[in-house]
Amino acid sequence: MAKRDYYEVLGVSKSASADEIKKAYRKLAIQYHPDKNPDNPEAEEKFKEAAEAYEVLSNSEKRQRYDQFGHQGLGGNGGYGGGMNMEDIFSQFGDIFGGGGFGSFFGGGGGGRRTKKGTNLRVKLKLNLQEIANGVEKKIKVKRNILAPGVTFKSCTTCQGSGQIKKVVNTMLGQMVSASTCGVCGGSGQIVDKKPAEADSRGLIVKEEVISINIPGGVAEGMQLSMSGKGNEIPGGIPGDLLIVIEEVEEKTFQRDGNNVIYDLYVSFIDAALGASVEVPTIEGKVKIKIEPGTQSGKMLRLKGKGIKDINGYSKGDQLIMVNIWTPTSLSKEERQSLENLRDSENFKPDPGKSEKSFFDKMKEFF
Ligand SMILES: [Zn+2]
Repeated sequence: MAKRDYYEVLGVSKSASADEIKKAYRKLAIQYHPDKNPDNPEAEEKFKEAAEAYEVLSNSEKRQRYDQFGHQGLGGNGGYGGGMNMEDIFSQFGDIFGGGGFGSFFGGGGGGRRTKKGTNLRVKLKLNLQEIANGVEKKIKVKRNILAPGVTFKSCTTCQGSGQIKKVVNTMLGQMVSASTCGVCGGSGQIVDKKPAEADSRGLIVKEEVISINIPGGVAEGMQLSMSGKGNEIPGGIPGDLLIVIEEVEEKTFQRDGNNVIYDLYVSFIDAALGASVEVPTIEGKVKIKIEPGTQSGKMLRLKGKGIKDINGYSKGDQLIMVNIWTPTSLSKEERQSLENLRDSENFKPDPGKSEKSFFDKMKEFF
């Protein structure tokens, strides 16, 4: 099923303010909340869809990327492919309802559902064009919080393991239960019983780990890949995610244009006039190409399939070669003489006919 546009999901315009987006999400979250729609998978899907849209559009950086690149800008193979799970939603957006979160909003019903999640780790990963073109396996060093070996937990005595402190409040509508997160255990319902000396008060240690990741071909600057569960661990909860932000190493030989790479080739006007075989670099090494006799400056040649893999499939971009004629900037006496002999030759006079397309027509043809 094709992913719906996030603005459409929330029913707001592309220029909606942060406040409008929050209001729209709040309305949908209440409408499709699992407590109000028990055993209704369709409502659950809508609930998740709205949360995912809100997650992106409420974050100005993600929103900008989404506006520019669509769903793909958020990492095609990354964190958004499978949507969000309920734990993520409750842990991330519980506070949109203020106070005690979702649970108290619905009279304490959803309290047990909230799973705590460790914080995400974010690393930058520099890739060169070769790695981007075909995809690459990378090893990344990260320092994560993990549960110390040998740490044991016991039920929190303050909240009796529920993670929440419930209070009965008298209101005009009668008694309402309000729940807030337990300050002693931080909502996990557990506190450290025994721990090794090097662990902190939460029972965590910092460990350096090397994590392997397969980067798909075709990623671009600013894209974010997500490895679920490779972030910081947390007692009584699920680990956060490892977010990998792609950076492109500046490339001197080629220019990237989507999945195509553009290469500027310079040939002498002798080669252009007489024809020649020249070597050009590609992402995968050098190849020989033929310059036809009578080649004009600005001609574009295409090496099919020598570009960058498409991030969504098996197709590949091309290498486009822009032919530039090199005009000599200094000449010996003899060289000058032989060229002078040709100056008035009829065949050397420019005569751009209909067959010579303008630069702009050529660009249209190639992109
Ligand atoms: Zn507690």
